[in-house]
Amino acid sequence: MPLNQEIYYYLWVQVIFVKKEKRSQTSLEKKYSLFDIAEIRERLKGRLFESFPLKRITSFGVGGEADILFYPKDITDIVEINRFTHLNGIPITFIGRGTNILVRDGGIRGVVVVLRDGIKDINIGEKYIEVGACVSLTRLLYILMKNGISGLEFAWGIPGTFGGAIAMNAGAFGSEISQFLERVVSIDLSGNKKIYNKGDMKFSYRYSSFQDRKEVIVLGRLSLQNRKDPHEIYKKMKEFEDIRGKNQPIGAKTAGSIFKNPKGDFAGRIIEKLGLKGVRIGDAVISMIHANFIENVGNASAKDIENLIEYVEAYVEKKTGIVLAREVKILGNEC
Ligand SMILES: Cc1cc2nc3c(=O)[nH]c(=O)nc-3n(C[C@H](O)[C@H](O)[C@H](O)COP(=O)(O)OP(=O)(O)OC[C@H]3O[C@@H](n4cnc5c(N)ncnc54)[C@H](O)[C@@H]3O)c2cc1C
Repeated sequence: MPLNQEIYYYLWVQVIFVKKEKRSQTSLEKKYSLFDIAEIRERLKGRLFESFPLKRITSFGVGGEADILFYPKDITDIVEINRFTHLNGIPITFIGRGTNILVRDGGIRGVVVVLRDGIKDINIGEKYIEVGACVSLTRLLYILMKNGISGLEFAWGIPGTFGGAIAMNAGAFGSEISQFLERVVSIDLSGNKKIYNKGDMKFSYRYSSFQDRKEVIVLGRLSLQNRKDPHEIYKKMKEFEDIRGKNQPIGAKTAGSIFKNPKGDFAGRIIEKLGLKGVRIGDAVISMIHANFIENVGNASAKDIENLIEYVEAYVEKKTGIVLAREVKILGNEC
């Protein structure tokens, strides 16, 4: 069957049969409003929004509304919102800069806590560097460079927050953030502070145990012992930036790599070899620059993107037997 015909057949099967059950479940879910959290509004310092379109704050530029969106200003705000939602059975979701997530078109019920405003301190001590979860990697790397502290240059160009990088164990060019982490502080759903040492977080390739725990990372302690001339550090960062510029669709609406690389191979290489570059569903397109990226080239819906992800998974498995694992996190409900 020609590729395009195969895509349409695949979509038809998905829409008619597979998604029917899911649709009837989500339509019954409760919607929360600011009224439901009126009781603690006075105590919160951060900004709150109702019915906030998540497409405005995700790098894919897609996603339905969050019932309530909250930008905590400090750790106390996080403790308050976690406790309140937990006690009242209101769903809660945590996101950073939204650069590794796909939010579905039906949005996210309950409260979405956005960790990109509040906790932004960087304290450089003699042995360790304490970094707030909301600090962007770009700012962190810039400050480290200015202070002649080497080690994280590989992360230049990763557009997320420090907290998001810990949760995802972000990495590039053979290094990953967990190599340099000593300790992480988080807040659990009951508002309790937790401290994790390096060995407690089960880091592996693009994985940390925070992916399976409902906790907010608020602080991380880095151990970076290598000191260099800032010009040398800048040169290394620039080298990495140039490689990214050539190999990735920088500036396009993407969420980075969609799939993890299978052992000993690259997801992008496999997808490209099967001739899938440029395959399109709606405005979601497999990037012509890097086959492990999907670009929203206009007004893609999250459903277009998710359908394309599922299509690639099915096609790759059918043709090669390889089961691709997803790196991107899919959140929320279908319409
Ligand atoms: C152009 C581009 C290039 C990229 N290149 C790379 C790359 O080279 N290497 C790489 O690893 N990634 C890359 N990414 C993906 C992404 O930038 C990283 O995974 C980043 O670390 C995600 O951070 P974020 O703040 O955007 O997290 P989000 O996308 O907002 O969230 C990702 C996950 O982390 C969780 N999370 C976020 N913050 C917290 C927190 N404070 N506490 C608890 N959980 C949290 C969320 O619940 C979610 O499950 C790229 C993305 C783009 C768009």
